[in-house]
Amino acid sequence: MNLLKKYNTCIFCGSKNLKKKSVLKKLHSVNFYLEAIISDLNLSLKDLDKMKLYNCNNCFISQYSPWFDEHTIKKIYNNIYGQHNKNWSNLLNFISKGNDPAHGKLFDYINKKITVTNYAEYNAPFMGLFINFFKKETKLNTKKYKKLFNYIVRYIQSRQLAGRSKIFQKRSMRHSFKLKKSIDIIKKNLLKRKQINKYLIYDNSAMSWNYNDNYKSINSKVFVSEMFNVNIYDLEKFPKKIKFDLFGFFLTLDHTLQPKRILDFALAKSKYVIINSHIEKIVNKQHLFSLTMKFKEYLKKKKIYYLDLNKAIDKKFTSPELYLICSKNRLLISKLN
Ligand SMILES: [Zn+2]
Repeated sequence: MNLLKKYNTCIFCGSKNLKKKSVLKKLHSVNFYLEAIISDLNLSLKDLDKMKLYNCNNCFISQYSPWFDEHTIKKIYNNIYGQHNKNWSNLLNFISKGNDPAHGKLFDYINKKITVTNYAEYNAPFMGLFINFFKKETKLNTKKYKKLFNYIVRYIQSRQLAGRSKIFQKRSMRHSFKLKKSIDIIKKNLLKRKQINKYLIYDNSAMSWNYNDNYKSINSKVFVSEMFNVNIYDLEKFPKKIKFDLFGFFLTLDHTLQPKRILDFALAKSKYVIINSHIEKIVNKQHLFSLTMKFKEYLKKKKIYYLDLNKAIDKKFTSPELYLICSKNRLLISKLN
């Protein structure tokens, strides 16, 4: 099998100081992601056994080597598992039941401690706080939320006219104009206060849910910009002048091949940065790497100040996760206490 590549240096910090971790074979579970990967790529469990887990002695992440090469990674995160299930489930749960994504009391904490005018997140737009901000800025009305959601789905779909007859195309086009107007009216009626500026940053990394993170053939980036008025930007082309009060990584920092670059970008641009990450000891093999609890020591070394929020947000964890609020400015962190 030539789908694997050696990862001899740490994907996060570039260190060569990696130490093999001994992991009992039976602790590896095959979840539904891995099942699809194994089947679609014609792999065997033996192939997966070649992947060994290492710890970086500099930044303390856990990382597999060998692991899939970049071409295969892209295939895994688009063709094989294009839709980020949890991401869309968060949105659908909000639409049907008015539920927030499960971050405990994180949003209350932020509202109490930080004034946010410019807010950004990295990738997977329904994993973080865009839904919370939308709820805060609109009159709570689940019926209208549902209506808005359905109109947006129909509006985007009404422009998907390839292969349709001329008559159908004309009718659908006229219909789309009406839908767009209705969307604008519902949004205007729902809004109860000035909205903050919201940004979603992506980097087209092979390891991110990307052009196929779709629901009913609508990409999550398109949907979040239509419904929540989020501005979508490529990391490389983000305007220099715009700074953030808060930047959020919600289980996305380990879904890029350039995690340090995007974290450095966030820390340079934003007063505060939230890192929410899995820190499971046994990393599932659909992931190249994972942060660990000890990652905090690396932040300290690098003079990135942080506060551990796990207690403050009072979340019911189903698996080990980390919630940190970080800043390059020590005063900003001490102000939170
Ligand atoms: Zn490292």
